[in-house]
Amino acid sequence: MTSPDRPLILVTNDDSVWARGIEVLARAAEALGEVWVVAPDREQSAVGHGISLDNPLRRVNVPHKARWYGISGTPADCVYFAVAHQLPRAPALVLSGINFGNNVGEDIFYSGTVAAAIEAALMDVPSMAVSLAVRGDLEAAAKLAVEVGAEIMERGLERRTFLNLNLPRELRPDWRLRVCGLGTRSYGKVVDEKADPRGRPYFWIGAPEMVFDPIPGSDLLALSEGDATLTPVRLDLNDRALRHGLRRWQVVERYRGDVPEPGDEIV
Ligand code: MN
Repeated sequence: MTSPDRPLILVTNDDSVWARGIEVLARAAEALGEVWVVAPDREQSAVGHGISLDNPLRRVNVPHKARWYGISGTPADCVYFAVAHQLPRAPALVLSGINFGNNVGEDIFYSGTVAAAIEAALMDVPSMAVSLAVRGDLEAAAKLAVEVGAEIMERGLERRTFLNLNLPRELRPDWRLRVCGLGTRSYGKVVDEKADPRGRPYFWIGAPEMVFDPIPGSDLLALSEGDATLTPVRLDLNDRALRHGLRRWQVVERYRGDVPEPGDEIV
């Protein structure tokens, strides 16, 4: 049964509660504490940070697995529901993954795996997204995730931040864990147009990756070199420099009035 003394680890993902990646991660996470799995009951990749406001959520028990639940919602729904309702106490850590495919660079704006980590951070729970290149070694990814997770639990994370861990398809023999920044990559701007059986057009977006910018220190470059990457991400999207410049725009000056702007140190 559940013991209030053991730290609680919430494991979720966006590939669904039936995916192989979450099974391997959840089993490995037993080394960190009492594992609860609350994850979407169907594939939710690339749904981003959506939450279900207009639909009820349904919950199913995963057969033969104690403390495993499938939810008819998004990854962010799952974290919200688990932390606010399902779990018997606050989790010490949220692990999201192991995703089928890397989440690097701008992927984090689309990724459901990352959205779950973000939702945890918004709920003041330390979190990490874990993603592995297609056909990569799930056991190696789970082992590294648990090692990083243990240190997160020891040290804590700053509020409104989370870690994003990625492993390549094949770690090179002398691989390193490199602390990186988010890189940039392009999937091209391809829309595939075809005709359905009744001759009506349909459109498919989301081409496979075309190119990435080989920026030194970026997650994309390090992964391409066969290393694992650990990227700290801050949820604060404020652009302080641009805010400064924007105050000199004519339209802003025109409507500024006599009220002084608060200093940038406030936000
Ligand atoms: Mn996915």
